[in-house]
Amino acid sequence: MTDSVTDASALPPGQGRYVIRGARPLGGDCADLLIENGLITATGTVDADGAITVDADGLVALPGFVDLHTHLREPGREDAETVFTGSRAAALGGYTAVHAMANSDPVADTAGVVEQVFTLGRDAGWTEVRPVGAVTVGLGGTRLAELGAMADSRARVRVFSDDGMCVHDPVLMRRALEYVKAFDGVIAQHAQEPRLTEGAQMNEGRVSATLGLTGWPAVAEEAIIARDVLLTEHVGSRLHVCHVSTAGSVELIRWAKQRGVRVTAEVTPHHLLLTDEEVTGYDPVYKVNPPLRTADDVRALREGVADGTIDAIGTDHAPHPAQAKECEWSQAAMGMTGLETAFSVVQQTLVETGMLDWAGVARIMSQTPARIGKLPWQGGGLAAGERADVTLVDPAARRVVDPATMATKGRNSPFAGRELPGRVIATFLAGHPTVLDGKSADPRPLPSIAAEATR
Ligand SMILES: [Zn+2]
Repeated sequence: MTDSVTDASALPPGQGRYVIRGARPLGGDCADLLIENGLITATGTVDADGAITVDADGLVALPGFVDLHTHLREPGREDAETVFTGSRAAALGGYTAVHAMANSDPVADTAGVVEQVFTLGRDAGWTEVRPVGAVTVGLGGTRLAELGAMADSRARVRVFSDDGMCVHDPVLMRRALEYVKAFDGVIAQHAQEPRLTEGAQMNEGRVSATLGLTGWPAVAEEAIIARDVLLTEHVGSRLHVCHVSTAGSVELIRWAKQRGVRVTAEVTPHHLLLTDEEVTGYDPVYKVNPPLRTADDVRALREGVADGTIDAIGTDHAPHPAQAKECEWSQAAMGMTGLETAFSVVQQTLVETGMLDWAGVARIMSQTPARIGKLPWQGGGLAAGERADVTLVDPAARRVVDPATMATKGRNSPFAGRELPGRVIATFLAGHPTVLDGKSADPRPLPSIAAEATR
């Protein structure tokens, strides 16, 4: 791509007129997009005197990506990531919104903490940062957190999760599902039966038996999903299943949807590409919760995305400092980074396999997660009148993943050294470029009130 904007830092901050020339919106025919004052104001062949031109020849234009599952680590673990570094990484990955998981220190279980994370995100200006509220106090699993206060706060929390921990008490799970109905919130469950996974180190199966590592059975995930689907149906609420990882989970969610239960689900990029065979080398970069599963599970997860059973890609971006990963397998922390590689993995596993077209990518990476997270101004269709949250990708590009060049503080990418297709070239957040020419541009702080969230 030859871009007339060669130096992102030369852009006057806040200047509001851009014309994206010759992109293929949602993979369709070439068209221009005119961006003015934060909105897409014209599409097709547009006359744009005085606008800054972004040459998008050969690029696909998609609505800005929305992640339902990001660990930004702030407050408390700024050595691992901050709201600033994590949301900058997200913008480079094509994201215009991320949901920040609640397992910070202190836990995001009060209006005060969610407002702190929300404000840090607005000030950074790389993406929308939507805090996820904890379901239980301190993720302790014994007392319901102040869900209503978080929902009413300036952060307008709509997604609640104890992610990292499972809400395993069925009475608490039932109460939480009932509570969020008042503001059409959703409980995002990390489905892991704790007793069945005590001491578990990897997927339970042939590889764990060979390596002599304690296994993590598929049924530990599936049992919780089955229970929660039935609870959700019983109370008439809304459930989101985090990081689905087994073929059986896909079957259960397919069954629940056929039954009319309001359940949605996400899958991570790493569960779409990697299997438990990776663990054979004992490299802790492959240690993750839920664990990498089998090739049969990978196949079922891809099919689940293709047929709409799985609604969204959730990165489960989980940065760790080097010492937490560069140690023995049994001691290592669980988690992988993902924001800056998610699009490439989706292109490789779903687009290049013919399972999804570009409109499908827009659906699973932007439109449906925006709907689940209650972000009505994101996840559009790139039509005139919509807010200009736009991502330009180059499907023809290829690169070898190098964690040292990433914006995240985490170096724990399971894709390090792999060649992946596709590259994010530009990201526009509310009409302002956060990424140009594949590099960070000057972010602009967002207004401090999420007035949109009440719409
Ligand atoms: Zn989780």
